[in-house]
Amino acid sequence: MAYSKNTNDPIDSGAPATGWDPVRAEGGTNRLVAGFPGTNDDPTARRSNGQSQPSGRNDEPARPPEGGAVTVLVLGDQLTWRRGPVAADPDEPVLLIESTSFAERHPYHPHKLTLVFSAMRHFRDALRERGRTVWYRQCETFEDGIAAHLSAHPGDDLVAMRPASHGAGDRLRDLVTAHGGSLELVDNDLFLCAPATFDDWAADRSEFTHEAFYRFMRRRTGYLMDGDDPIGGQWNYDEENRETPPAGYDPPSPPRFEPDALTRETEAWVAETFDGGYEEPPYGGAWANPEPFRWPVARAEALTALDAFVTDRLPEFGPYQDAMVEGEWALDHALLSPALNLGLLHPGEVVEAAIERVDDPEVPRNSLEGFVRQVLGWREFVRHAYRVGMPDLVEANRLGATAALPECYWTGDTDMACLADAVEGVRKRGYSHHIQRLMVLSNFALLYGVEPRELNRWFHAAYVDASHWVTTPNVIEMGLFAGDLFATKPYAASANYVDRMSDYCDGCAYDPDETVGEGACPFNALYWEFLDRNEDDLRENHRMGLVYHHLDDKDREPIRERAAAVRERARDGEL
Ligand SMILES: Cc1cc2nc3c(=O)[nH]c(=O)nc-3n(C[C@H](O)[C@H](O)[C@H](O)COP(=O)(O)OP(=O)(O)OC[C@H]3O[C@@H](n4cnc5c(N)ncnc54)[C@H](O)[C@@H]3O)c2cc1C
Ligand code: SF4
Repeated sequence: MAYSKNTNDPIDSGAPATGWDPVRAEGGTNRLVAGFPGTNDDPTARRSNGQSQPSGRNDEPARPPEGGAVTVLVLGDQLTWRRGPVAADPDEPVLLIESTSFAERHPYHPHKLTLVFSAMRHFRDALRERGRTVWYRQCETFEDGIAAHLSAHPGDDLVAMRPASHGAGDRLRDLVTAHGGSLELVDNDLFLCAPATFDDWAADRSEFTHEAFYRFMRRRTGYLMDGDDPIGGQWNYDEENRETPPAGYDPPSPPRFEPDALTRETEAWVAETFDGGYEEPPYGGAWANPEPFRWPVARAEALTALDAFVTDRLPEFGPYQDAMVEGEWALDHALLSPALNLGLLHPGEVVEAAIERVDDPEVPRNSLEGFVRQVLGWREFVRHAYRVGMPDLVEANRLGATAALPECYWTGDTDMACLADAVEGVRKRGYSHHIQRLMVLSNFALLYGVEPRELNRWFHAAYVDASHWVTTPNVIEMGLFAGDLFATKPYAASANYVDRMSDYCDGCAYDPDETVGEGACPFNALYWEFLDRNEDDLRENHRMGLVYHHLDDKDREPIRERAAAVRERARDGEL
């Protein structure tokens, strides 16, 4: 790993966003289309087909007499009144903007669009119930929302939390300035480790690893610490967290949040408005197979989800966190990433809710520590890896992968039992758990050689918890080994891993023990051919020595032939 330290905050570096970025300028420097920002309440607002927006629904309450001249701009993934300028300036009005054109740029899962738009609308209503003046605008583009606001309030001064997406703060400021207003960006308070803290920590390191960062964060926050030492004497209980559940294991069901009238209305509007497929514009979620919507869209629901996890599933989170069980899409995972990434939950309160059970004998140390590591460690770490790695990260392709994404990622139509179950879960809920993401979906794409931006785009469109700052480092760096930030070796695995950690192979049409020949598991030939194909880049990696030693004992030609046959089948939709 070669971490070249960048002391500038790339969010403010002024560098143009490159590659696919949902928070990037569209059609010119001032055409910002930000993370689901904005709106009046009107779902029939002006669309790209030229329909005009009925003006009657664009409510324009007066500036409150006690408010100053500042307006708090809240972006669609900052939905909290407990932090940032919404909390710091409690008398000031709030501006929220929904942008419909953002949601048309990729074939988003309908649950993702319902989640984000419904959460914004619930946040608006919750603020109003608290007596806050809220200007809520629904426009085709984010720029339209800013323009409408500044036309109603000429010269207004806006204040917002710095967006997490690379370059978005600068673009936002340019946009506001171009329409005659001003924008102050303040620290983003939705994370546990500020950019300056991370940069100080990284300053004297030529490279950084998650484990070192995680220990730094444990010490800094005091979470699960006894003075300078970790509670229990161990930093990491990973060794205990690689079990598979017994046959017939029945994990506690996660809560499903029955959609209220506002969510139902939003869901119907999403279905009607974004009705395209994945192949060509206008894009939409027609590829998905959505079951009833289930995600928390408001603060109270998010707290219920947190409580349900900590009470019911935390005890067995640890041992089964790397396991996969057919038909058990949630296992003991938290399902909290959508609420965390929208700002409905703060990572600090999530960690603290888990830590409250530190003395509970029902919660083993490996479960508690394993969960804290995900939120305090991995979530914060990838956020900074993204910050440091952008803008190059989004374009990175160190292994030179060029293959198109197989169609079965959209259709779920494959005889590979592990891949079919993971994709079907995504088609149903816009979610799969971490090991399915990493060891099935990314692993297959890595071995197959999918072009990194294409897989990144698929994850962004398909997952309810996707956001550029978190999806990109996970897909490009962790999943595909395409960057050069923190991954020390590719997460490449043959059927052996899936067979050991899941029950998929028992009922699969393919044989996990065969590498070549009709019926051999596609992972196997692709795995060895991946090593063969990338030998120049990977052989010298000291963590890969053993696998290359095994490759040396193999006859490579039949493996190459089988891999070529697998690719042909994938291209023909017959995998
Ligand atoms: C290829 C790939 C793509 C991913 N895309 C996303 C994404 O778009 N959005 C997203 O939030 N996470 C993403 N992740 C990370 C992780 O898979 C999800 O956060 C997790 O599966 C969410 O489900 P959960 O809440 O049930 O998590 P749990 O498994 O219960 O973990 C608890 C929490 O830890 C945090 N966490 C754990 N690992 C990570 C990680 N690597 N990066 C960031 N947070 C982490 C999440 O906030 C999560 O809610 C991705 C991982 C991979 C390998
Ligand atoms: S045999 Fe291969 S394709 Fe089938 S479930 Fe196992 S790993 Fe997946």
